[in-house]
Amino acid sequence: MKFKTIIEPFKIKSVESLPITTPEEREGYLKREHWNVFGLKSQEVTVDLLTDSGTGSMSSEQWAAIMRGDESYAGSHSWQRFHDVVSDLTGYKHIIPTHQGRASEKILATITVKEGDIIPSNSHFDTTRANFEFVKAEALDLLCKEGLDLLSPSPFKGNIDLDKLEKILKEKNEKIPFVLMTITNNTGGGQPVSMENLKKVKELCGKYNKMFLLDACRFAENAWFVSQREDEYKDVEIRDITKEAFRLADGCTISLKKDGFGNIGGILAFNDDDLAEQARNLLILTEGFPTYGGLAGRDLDALAQGLKEITDKNYLEYRARSISYLGEKALSFGIPIVQPAGGHALYIDAKTFVPHIPSHEYPGHSVACEIYLIGGVRTVELGTLAFGVAGENGKPDEPSTHELVRLAAPRRTYTQSHFDYVAEVLEKLAENKEKLKGYEIIEQPKQLRHFTAKLRPL
Ligand SMILES: *Cc1c(COP(=O)(O)O)cnc(C)c1O
Repeated sequence: MKFKTIIEPFKIKSVESLPITTPEEREGYLKREHWNVFGLKSQEVTVDLLTDSGTGSMSSEQWAAIMRGDESYAGSHSWQRFHDVVSDLTGYKHIIPTHQGRASEKILATITVKEGDIIPSNSHFDTTRANFEFVKAEALDLLCKEGLDLLSPSPFKGNIDLDKLEKILKEKNEKIPFVLMTITNNTGGGQPVSMENLKKVKELCGKYNKMFLLDACRFAENAWFVSQREDEYKDVEIRDITKEAFRLADGCTISLKKDGFGNIGGILAFNDDDLAEQARNLLILTEGFPTYGGLAGRDLDALAQGLKEITDKNYLEYRARSISYLGEKALSFGIPIVQPAGGHALYIDAKTFVPHIPSHEYPGHSVACEIYLIGGVRTVELGTLAFGVAGENGKPDEPSTHELVRLAAPRRTYTQSHFDYVAEVLEKLAENKEKLKGYEIIEQPKQLRHFTAKLRPL
């Protein structure tokens, strides 16, 4: 029997109270932080949709696993359990534990990339891009054309443009150390990549003799979309889809703060013996001994358990549904969103939503502040404040391509009524949109300015 109500497929064993604040208090907090939501204390936020990274809830089995944690420096039992789960899931020969995704990226960039290299991808995540650019290589995004159109609801907007990929593999072959596919495509709105696209990337990498790597932070969410949208996979178990995806590539980097169901953790994995040895040599310098990386034994055990739980189809259905539900609500209030709703987040298209605020007055930031002021919900601007280039000598900023506001859902943390509450906040946002004003920056650092910039409403 099929029910209309998709329930949270868990019950709550331990709770943390949420602060309920007044509009006056919220205005005071935001003013104190110079209108930057990153400055807010978590006790001032009622529903925190800033990120899905490391913010999820662990299961009782994960907490039990924490008690099994073995803190032996070398060869701990926790490491063996972690290794067995990861090698069964991914099939890679060498599994290297790190403290989080960017630690894996840093090692990867150091051992495989040199000045002048080009790394083609569907879209690089910001820290991945930053690590490649740090060694003076080019992080090249080759997103498919459906992915570039925010408002069109195609099923696999995370795919890479295969013609462009083949062209660059042919023309710049000797500059390319590997091809990196991000699943799901975080930068492009949490959109999935089809298995067909991954298979074609593998084929091209074979033809041009290149290594194929995955940035597989959301491997389970990607597999869920594949099971829903790719005919060939509709009767395949989620676990089997994830296993097949990993086996198409030659290695991966993963932040386990996402689909690892962990609060911290990462993986770097290869089939290649020589690369693995180089990676382990660096690992010892910056992370730790190869059987714990940057992690405690108890973390490895919690992650091993989380990696077993994440491919549960009931959980993935509830997760995808929470976000698409919020998306349907937003659309019904006339709020334009990136379509279809992503796997881990909903993205509001602020450029279309508040066209009276120009890019250099940060429309996405204005929307994010208003969402906080209305209901204490924290979101994040991903637009000109985050990615634009600061104008010099009083000139306006060079704008980012899109002005988005991301509502990212922590895993297994909020329930249907929390999402209904957020929907109500969005309804009020839509009613007030004409009154929204732009912002100006009064102080900003040189890099990653959105984290600490001070602003003021115009
Ligand atoms: C989060 C993320 C990373 C970086 O991982 P951290 O654990 O935050 O260092 C890399 N790639 C993608 C796609 C991510 O979402």
